[in-house]
Amino acid sequence: MIVGDLKPLEEIVAAIKEYKQILVLGCGSCVTVCLSGGEKEAEHLCHELSKPKHYEGPPPALKMGCILRQCEQDLVREYQLVPQGTDAILSLACGAGVQTVADEHDPLPVIPALNTTFLGASAKPGIWAEMCRGCGDCVLTFTGGICPVARCAKSLFNGPCGGSQNGSCEVGLDTPCAWAMIYLRLKRQDKLHLLEEIRAPKDWRPGGAGGPRKRIRVGLGDGKSS
Ligand code: SF4
Ligand code: SF4
Repeated sequence: MIVGDLKPLEEIVAAIKEYKQILVLGCGSCVTVCLSGGEKEAEHLCHELSKPKHYEGPPPALKMGCILRQCEQDLVREYQLVPQGTDAILSLACGAGVQTVADEHDPLPVIPALNTTFLGASAKPGIWAEMCRGCGDCVLTFTGGICPVARCAKSLFNGPCGGSQNGSCEVGLDTPCAWAMIYLRLKRQDKLHLLEEIRAPKDWRPGGAGGPRKRIRVGLGDGKSS
């Protein structure tokens, strides 16, 4: 899922203070799961932003809403509850959701309330960890299901760097070395030979180096991203 964090309150206030009537719009998917942008968080933010202490003049009028997925054009289009007179939307979605809402409601300003951070998974209750950077050319088949792009601090492809110590990464003892994990998992799987195979250098073009990417579904296994 996509993980995001609420921006600092002062930053949000600075971005909305010029507007008089704002729709605070939660997103009911990824950011709900990571407890940063769902209906409850939108309600809480709405409550906080309605306090006069944040503004020199009167606070804006705030209404709250939520869309199941703000990154889905059809769902954004079906959402008919933008109140008359709204002069901005404060979106608690990821960057994809904010942009979909902005496209659909152009020219209404749509302001992000979150910083979109990474593609991750729940590691423990209340903790989410980065797992994938959407490189477009997945190598998990050869790395024991552990991503060297997102989980190695240097995105190395040929084993650990000299900073790997007792299973920890040189960036900090609480960060596992991805390559130590890859090695140990492949060993448990009796697949260490995968590390000895010579592979072509990774093709980074599907990773976004060639400009904005899009995906066109053709048939099973034929999906093409460009
Ligand atoms: S190799 Fe690429 S696609 Fe696969 S998990 Fe890592 S970043 Fe994501
Ligand atoms: S210590 Fe391991 S995870 Fe950290 S940068 Fe080096 S190889 Fe990558």
